[in-house]
Amino acid sequence: MAEKKERLSFRQAMAYTRRGYAIWFKAAPEVFLAAGADRAVTALTPYVPLYFTARLVNAIAGGGGPGEVWPMLAALLISTALAGAARAAASNWNQAMENSHLHPAWNRIFFEKLLSMDFCDVDDAKTQALFTQIRQNNNWSSWGLTKLHWTFGCMVEAVLRILGALALSVSLFTLPVPADSPLAGLNSPWCMAGMGLLLAGSVALSGALLNRAERYWSEYDGTQGNRGFSFFYFIAMQERHRAADIRTYTQDKFLEAKGREMLDDETSFGPNSAIGKAGRGAMGISYTVSGAVSQAFMGVIYLFAGLKALGGAFGVGSVTQYVGALAGLARGFTDLAEVMGELRANAEYLKPVYEFLDIPNNMYQGSLTTEKRSDRKYEIEFRDVSFQYPGTDTWALRHVSMKFDVGERLAVVGENGSGKTTFIKLLCRLYDPTEGEILLNGIDIRKYRYDNYLALFSVVFQDFKLLSQPLGQNVAAAENYDRARAEECLKRAGFGPRLAELPRGLDTCLYREFEDDGVEVSGGEAQKIALARVLYQDAPFIVLDEPTAALDPEAEAEVYTKFNDIVEDKTAIYISHRLSSCRFCDEVAVFDHGQVVQQGVHDALVEAEGKYRALWEAQAQYYRKEG
Ligand code: ADP
Repeated sequence: MAEKKERLSFRQAMAYTRRGYAIWFKAAPEVFLAAGADRAVTALTPYVPLYFTARLVNAIAGGGGPGEVWPMLAALLISTALAGAARAAASNWNQAMENSHLHPAWNRIFFEKLLSMDFCDVDDAKTQALFTQIRQNNNWSSWGLTKLHWTFGCMVEAVLRILGALALSVSLFTLPVPADSPLAGLNSPWCMAGMGLLLAGSVALSGALLNRAERYWSEYDGTQGNRGFSFFYFIAMQERHRAADIRTYTQDKFLEAKGREMLDDETSFGPNSAIGKAGRGAMGISYTVSGAVSQAFMGVIYLFAGLKALGGAFGVGSVTQYVGALAGLARGFTDLAEVMGELRANAEYLKPVYEFLDIPNNMYQGSLTTEKRSDRKYEIEFRDVSFQYPGTDTWALRHVSMKFDVGERLAVVGENGSGKTTFIKLLCRLYDPTEGEILLNGIDIRKYRYDNYLALFSVVFQDFKLLSQPLGQNVAAAENYDRARAEECLKRAGFGPRLAELPRGLDTCLYREFEDDGVEVSGGEAQKIALARVLYQDAPFIVLDEPTAALDPEAEAEVYTKFNDIVEDKTAIYISHRLSSCRFCDEVAVFDHGQVVQQGVHDALVEAEGKYRALWEAQAQYYRKEG
């Protein structure tokens, strides 16, 4: 996992960073405006009291009377109060923007990509691993796009701190010591050049040392250790479906020990990890020496400004101003260097982000609209369709030809791995056939607009998920919906009696994640709700993947006898393991090793020699036992 990373050059890192900012400025400009304003105010406000304090002290030390001192004091107090108020306001605005806009914008950037990606890429384990890595980097220390928000603020602050400091410190060099003073030598250009060199040298040295220290972070891959640590310490302990196991086998101690072990792992962040050791060694030393260099430089500034004041170049109050301003200057440069180091380190984490955002859409997107037909006359045909999953060389479907009209009930049966789900995925255009074509009313489905074509299908997948939200909203998949229709759909799906028992009806929250009085629904009930959701959508094609897998035999019988009413004039395609359900269908397609080996009505197929009868007999045995 911790493969050696090829480090980006500085230029590449900056190009990555620029692209990151372009993404952000488009996705959430207001967040960056607020951050910039906040950090600008933070950088500049300390200079306000610094300036007025110097004037005040100069007035007092220079023997200025009350006429000079009082206005200065008033100016100091008022400006400080105003600066404080500006700072609080900017900080509040920034916080509010960050809390309400930053993370939603992050989600939007990634989820829009995830939703617009070809399904085969979403389904690909590599894409999932990439996205997991991006999320982990983000959760770990905001590495990736989020870090750019923070560094943006730091940059604005550093640059303005430098500009403010320059404005306040120019006169330190330009005001001369009177020529008759023994300290007049301080006016020499050499002296000024020396100070400039010292400033540049100390900033460069402490910046380089900081950069060197930061480099340990960018070269350190903590993903593995962090993942293990979070899993054993937090995730495993709090996951509900593990709670029983943890108690029964007293796994808590085991998990805690594992977590502690992970903490000490080379790739983690404990004392014995690579980063922990670096902190005690070269990295720690770099941080320390960097701080010491800055402080030594401050000492020299004190000496220089103090001597000039002593020589009579300016009042003693100005010494505090110059020292404060030059401290700000040094800090501004150091912060800038640090932020550059941070940006460079962060660019490595932008790599997976762009790899993800740049996944191309290879699926052909047509422009025909599927006509909204009131007669729902849609005909679908698979014409000699074969399919291989990307990266495999086995045929998941081979030479499948099939035609079905609207209003038919088609059952798709076959053993595990025979290609049933793949058939559905191709039908819903989650994948395109490797060979052959699928036609809708005689036209290749690739030529239709993708969203238009998808809207023809309502699918209940085997692993469908309901949301921990009100029942009615689950059915309508929307916040505002037609209540009468939602109720009607629930009743048709067989949820009526249970709905009547719920005191809050459609407003009952499912599950208890968000509401204490939420209801826990059984697998069978969840299935009925999912079915009601399909009915509410009212698409011409309904696809049910193992619709009764979670139902007991009685509930299954109930659902099936109602199916014909439920689906009305729609086309229904069921994938089923229980052949008893096929009796209710007009047509059964039997899949075996990716091919349709038999097709016909249940009664005829049971009579005939073949795969269907073999499957039927195997199940009949099971039903007789159960019966
Ligand atoms: P069924 O629904 O009948 O159980 P599937 O359509 O899921 O069968 O699978 C058909 C074949 O395709 C199986 O050999 C399965 O291993 C393979 N397969 C299914 N999904 C993928 C995938 N995402 N990547 C690679 N092979 C897959």
